[in-house]
Amino acid sequence: MATNKKDIEFYIDAIRSGADGFQLTEKQPLSYFIRTFGCQQNDNDSEIAAGLLEFIGLKAAPCIEDADIVIFNTCSVRENADRRFYGNLGNLKTWRSEEKHRRIGVMGCMPGLDTHNTMLKESFPFIDFLLNAGDMGNLPRALYESGSQKKHSIVDLTDQAKETGNPSLPVKRESKHRALISIMSGCNNFCSYCIVPYARGRETSRDPLLILAEARAAVDNGAKEIMLLGQNVNSYGNDKRRQGESDFPSFAWLMEEIAKFPDLSILRYMTSHPKDLSDELIEVIGKYETIESHVHLPLQSGSNRLLKQMNRRYTSEHYLELVDKLRSARPGISISTDIIVGFPGETEEDFEDTLRIMETVKFDRAFTFIYSPRSGTPAAGWEQSASDAEIQERFERLLDLQNKHSLESNERCVGENIYVLVSGLSKNDDKIFSGRSKDDRLVNFSLPDMTDSAGQDLTSRGEPLSSTISDGSEVFVRITKAKTHSLEGVFTGLA
Ligand code: SF4
Repeated sequence: MATNKKDIEFYIDAIRSGADGFQLTEKQPLSYFIRTFGCQQNDNDSEIAAGLLEFIGLKAAPCIEDADIVIFNTCSVRENADRRFYGNLGNLKTWRSEEKHRRIGVMGCMPGLDTHNTMLKESFPFIDFLLNAGDMGNLPRALYESGSQKKHSIVDLTDQAKETGNPSLPVKRESKHRALISIMSGCNNFCSYCIVPYARGRETSRDPLLILAEARAAVDNGAKEIMLLGQNVNSYGNDKRRQGESDFPSFAWLMEEIAKFPDLSILRYMTSHPKDLSDELIEVIGKYETIESHVHLPLQSGSNRLLKQMNRRYTSEHYLELVDKLRSARPGISISTDIIVGFPGETEEDFEDTLRIMETVKFDRAFTFIYSPRSGTPAAGWEQSASDAEIQERFERLLDLQNKHSLESNERCVGENIYVLVSGLSKNDDKIFSGRSKDDRLVNFSLPDMTDSAGQDLTSRGEPLSSTISDGSEVFVRITKAKTHSLEGVFTGLA
């Protein structure tokens, strides 16, 4: 396993010096392109992969065609990500054969799962290396071994432990204002529909001092927002405490330490499993303004019978208690959730339990999915009792209800002057800026109609606004219109 610092440094040095037959190409510097699918944990792994590759000396390429090394960071949680990835990969066969030095690597959730591993090796033999999800410490080794072999074969490092321990590695952040920081890897929960524990291994918490140092460095480098990541952040430290480190800190402690940074604007976190959301954490969420006024709390189903089948280990009553506690600790907190429709055995009564809890909570946002079996999970073999048409009809009812609640929630913001952290110009209109509020709403806003003789929008100090506002700006926006999934408004000033 190359996840201790010495091994990682060994492979980095070997690549840099061209030692022991490392012979990717005479061309220097090599360039790389990473295509990422799936969740923010994968986004963060890709940022670390990019940081490592640049530390070695590679440069980012603007597209696959211009790159020497292409890496796919894959997701196996949803079927459409699988399909898109295999489509992308198939298209690269000719590209790979055109230049001898080119390399293709596959990492993320798919290579470590038996069915995908076999499929990758048998159907795409032109791949160069395979890595487990999150095992960025082995990336230099994979690159080195695939670059120094005389005859092509796939370097498969998925036999390495999935519990990597996550040392601190170089990171190239996608956004200058937002730092994604993984606090743990893996998952112990084995929800019966979910492939993550098989793909990412068991929970392994990172050293709290490393996390604090990374968070401090990110803020010192200009990050206004930190997002702490884990499959279940609420169980941070449980693995260490079970192993005897009784004073290993809790997630609430970690949140509180980072929330106290005086120059941090927003602290976000995801994902919170309802069974592990502690009173201690709710108290911290209520205490610090820096902590986002939002929680993502996946419900999955409102039926206790189905929650049991899903192995979620909470009841709908417990979930409602948590919502009450959160709302009294942090009045106005927005709550988003995930809901699955058509889980095997779901009856109309189960589905109506879900609608009922949605009516009670009135989620501000929800990610809703029709169940799709993931091979290798217990639920994949379970009988479906409803027809496809019934499931589709339920899904549409659920979506209608959620859209109504989302719009009502956004309508309550109209007329308010809210803080927004800007992420840049809108993709569709270069006169509209986009950003997120503290309670995680998407806000699109325009500049007010204050122009100089050259037609430029002005700040109160007479500077052109368009040059003052960019990715990472903190502004206030007066909300003028609510849509189902976003707010619209007008800039009123810098925060
Ligand atoms: S908590 Fe459940 S749904 Fe979430 S990653 Fe773990 S097994 Fe999957």
